[in-house]
Amino acid sequence: MAGIPRSVLITGANQGLGLELVRQMAEGPSPIRHLLACCRDPDGPRGQALQDLAKRHPEVITVMQLDVTDLCSIQRCSQQVGSLVGVGGLNLLINNAAILLTGTMQTTSPEDMLATFNTNVLGPMNIIKAFLPHLCAAAAASSGMAAMSCSKAAVINLASLMGSMNLAPQTYHIVPSSFSYRVSKAALNMLTVCAALEFQQSEILFAALHPGWVKTDMGGEGGDLEASESAGGLIRVMDSLTEEQNGAFLNYDSTPMPW
Ligand code: NDP
Repeated sequence: MAGIPRSVLITGANQGLGLELVRQMAEGPSPIRHLLACCRDPDGPRGQALQDLAKRHPEVITVMQLDVTDLCSIQRCSQQVGSLVGVGGLNLLINNAAILLTGTMQTTSPEDMLATFNTNVLGPMNIIKAFLPHLCAAAAASSGMAAMSCSKAAVINLASLMGSMNLAPQTYHIVPSSFSYRVSKAALNMLTVCAALEFQQSEILFAALHPGWVKTDMGGEGGDLEASESAGGLIRVMDSLTEEQNGAFLNYDSTPMPW
């Protein structure tokens, strides 16, 4: 491993994979200084599990309000993160929050398509832009380290095999009613590639990671993996990333995914 990130921010951290990533990072051997666990309603019932986890690790976890579709919420969160991390910046940003609305192309309304893009594509884009100064600060503060890593400055976008155009002929008939989600995750893949190229000089690493088919609210009971197994794999992949994987699309077991 290239080192340990001092500060990590995770969106959609109140349930599913996001909550499990926070739990494993807080309880793992790596001494993360700031684990910034974001969710859209931290004080509501959906934020309870995260609040309980944060109470067990008050020195590490900070629960923050962040609705990825709300620019004001994103800007406010970015300012708060700046105050917390200071000149050390933000080492690792994990764009995990997403929605899956059911529908084929024929049954998907323009409103559902826009809602899906707002959360799954514009959300990560606006968050990357708002947190860029903190990522750049982290890259500058770690200038003595190897060129790129998640402990220096990186953005991980939670991608999906459903966004893979190469795999669509195999996966389409298994889940035909996820049209807007598929298109949004394909767009997120291109966002990842463009960002990797645009911010290469700033030494910020970008990667799209598929977590497997996971038993969460989104993945359902039929999933192949428990959230703990997937999150453990994702953390191992993040630990191993170098500049060679900048812009890559990888599975939770680190094997390359077909675009
Ligand atoms: P869940 O549905 O269990 O969790 C999604 C999270 O995103 C929730 O915390 C939810 O918050 C949050 N969220 C949704 N909209 C917003 C918003 N506007 N602002 C802030 N947070 C929001 O999904 P998973 O944990 O299964 O998925 C995590 C990631 O992994 C997603 O990007 C998903 O696409 C990807 N993925 C998952 C797979 C699976 O099999 N589970 C397979 C492939 C990819 P709230 O509780 O408030 O709704």
